[in-house]
Formats: sequence, structure tokens, C-alpha cells
Amino acid sequence: MNILIMGPAGSGKGTMSSKIVEAYDIPHISTGDMFRAAIKEGTELGMTAKKYMDEGLLVPDEITIAMIRERLAQPDCQKGYLMDGYPRTLNQAHVFEEIAAELKKPVEAVLNLTVDFEELANRVTGRRLCKNCGAIYHITNFPPKQEGICDHCGALLVQRSDDTVEQLRVRLDEHHKNTEPVLAYYAAQGLVKEVNASRTIEEVWADIRAILEDLQ
Ligand SMILES: [Zn+2]
Repeated sequence: MNILIMGPAGSGKGTMSSKIVEAYDIPHISTGDMFRAAIKEGTELGMTAKKYMDEGLLVPDEITIAMIRERLAQPDCQKGYLMDGYPRTLNQAHVFEEIAAELKKPVEAVLNLTVDFEELANRVTGRRLCKNCGAIYHITNFPPKQEGICDHCGALLVQRSDDTVEQLRVRLDEHHKNTEPVLAYYAAQGLVKEVNASRTIEEVWADIRAILEDLQ
């Protein structure tokens, strides 16, 4: 099962990715994690990528794609993959298509998670996090036992300074601007599956499950 997943921060993409990984036994591949793993393992590509990242530069496409090619050839991708946050541009989509074809793992579906602005704003502005242990809460959806205090370590919870409606609007515009060409590219191939992610985790998961069952 070869799937791409797309959606803005706050769409529940991470939660759904974990569920897909668990249900279908395929790895979740994000370029960020891939870079970190390659650097940790000290692979040649990892070291090259690190040079760019240390200088605060974007890792060039050809390095990323070489890393993806290596990653998809690993044994845990035998049943497929769940690619997250890639491809980001039309050019990457073209190159990825060639590689996926070469490895006989063509994209079968692109899950596009969308959330109403109101709901997304509620999710983002209600988010609280513990700077001490990294736990994340939500004032209404997932409150700590004691208001403003972390359940795990007792530290004070804080709101990230960019978790505001204004910043959300900026990030969302940016997200749409970046993803539209890639989505259009896959839509033309009939691969895009729209998922209304404004609903509960259970409802969204039921939808995704139905889409993926159809693929099998
Ligand atoms: Zn904590």
C-alpha cells in the first residue's frame, strides 16, 4: 500500500499516520525523520545533508531523492509506505514518480486531510504544552487534571507564541500555496482522496480506513 498523506499542522495527520502504520504494517516516512536517522547512522548521504543543514541551508532535491530511493528499497517497505510531507513541489512530484515506478511502488492514493478554519483555530489556540517534558494538552479536548499544570511532571503549561489565529492564517495560506500544485498533479491522476478531518479521531479514522480498504 503506497500512500502519501497531506494536511496542515493541526489536521491530526500525525495521529492518523500512527493508526495507518499500526493497521497496515507500513513505515511512516517523513523527510525530517529520514534526515535525522541518516545523520545518526552516519551514512554518506546523511553526512552530505548535515553539511547543508548545519549551514541553515535547504538540503538539495537530489540528495533528498537519493535518500528516499534508499529508504524505499529497505525491507520494511515491502508492503508499501506512508510518505508524509513529500513531495512538496511539482518538480519533486515528477522525480518521485520516476523513482516510485522504478522501485515498482507507484503512489496509489493521496490522503488530503482538510479542516474547517474555525475548528483548526480552536485546536491550535487551545493547545498547551509542557516545556519540561514535551507533553501536549488542549484546554477543552484534552485538559490536564489540574488547569495549567502538567500531569506528568508538574511543570507549568505554556502556549506557543505562534499558536494564534493570525499566525494560523499565515501558516495555512502558506500551506495551501505550497500544496496546491502537487495536489492538482495527483488529482489529475485521480489519486487524491479528500478526508474531512474536522470531525472526531474515530470518524476520521473510519473514513481513512474505508478508503484504504478500497485500495486493497
Ligand atoms: Zn511535563
